[in-house]
Amino acid sequence: KAKSTGKNHYELYHTDMHQDESKQMLMEIQLRKALERKEFHLTYQPIVDASTGMISGMEALLRWNNDELGNVLPERFIPLAEETGLIIPISEWVISQACVDVKNIHLNGYANMQVSINISALHFNQESFVKSVEAILFTTNVNPRAVEFELTESMIMPNAIETIHKLVKLKKLGLKLSVDDFGTGYSSLSYLNRFPLDTLKIDKSFISKIGRYQDDTSIEEAIITIAHRLHLKVIAEGVESKKQLNFLKREKCDLIQGYYITRPIPLEELIDFLGIWDKELIN
Ligand code: C2E
Ligand code: MG
Ligand code: MG
Ligand code: MG
Repeated sequence: KAKSTGKNHYELYHTDMHQDESKQMLMEIQLRKALERKEFHLTYQPIVDASTGMISGMEALLRWNNDELGNVLPERFIPLAEETGLIIPISEWVISQACVDVKNIHLNGYANMQVSINISALHFNQESFVKSVEAILFTTNVNPRAVEFELTESMIMPNAIETIHKLVKLKKLGLKLSVDDFGTGYSSLSYLNRFPLDTLKIDKSFISKIGRYQDDTSIEEAIITIAHRLHLKVIAEGVESKKQLNFLKREKCDLIQGYYITRPIPLEELIDFLGIWDKELIN
């Protein structure tokens, strides 16, 4: 069949669209089966106390490995999981697994380790969210003080009153609460002292600017100052260089996390890592 250039062009465009769509559909079909096929696992990235060099916690980061799709990044499958509602059972699995894993870490001799868990907006907004969390805490029998929930500004801003009630309930359960990706969402800061928060995580886009360009670090300094005034701890995420580390130590940033320490690793590797970690490495 002869094709004109025009038609070829159209077909190419059409095929691209089609491929995109069928890729999404394939991903959705696979995602529906992923939990029962045990295709998810958690990796952990240590969180280090910037003044002592001790590892005080770890962030759970979800990974999906599928036979047909390979390793799919959370940035690709989490939005799809939210669109399809599949995120609810996935999110419950993540919270349960992270609680089981942090207990395991405690039993390995690291009694003070905390786990930070990224909470899905859709899950958080369910009326039954607090109940489902309570059930998980009960079943796993974890010490809630070792568990921190990471929320984002866009999650906690819209429904201010309802949100405060929810956060207060979570606090009463003994959990810690942090704001993830701070600085990328709402420009209003008023929620910071209205909500019962413990920690603020400076988004890695701010950290990556440290030591580059004209070295303007006024935003980073201001965030740390505001957080401390409000009695919040500050975590810098995405720390990749010694230069960034030194700056953050100088500015009295409380905690650091990033490739400079290690990439996220599976639980067994983390346990080994805890054993060989030398706190002098960040001095
Ligand atoms: P996030 O919570 O802000 O996590 C930090 C991301 O930065 C992670 O990407 C981590 O691997 C990456 N990262 C850590 N250190 C460095 C560094 O030094 N340099 C750079 N360039 N990146 C670094 P990841 O694991 O791909 O996760 C992306 C996002 O997906 C997370 O951002 C979080 O919003 C979401 N996510 C991950 N796991 C879960 C989960 O279990 N549940 C939910 N609801 N969301 C999750
Ligand atoms: Mg996070
Ligand atoms: Mg973050
Ligand atoms: Mg981030």
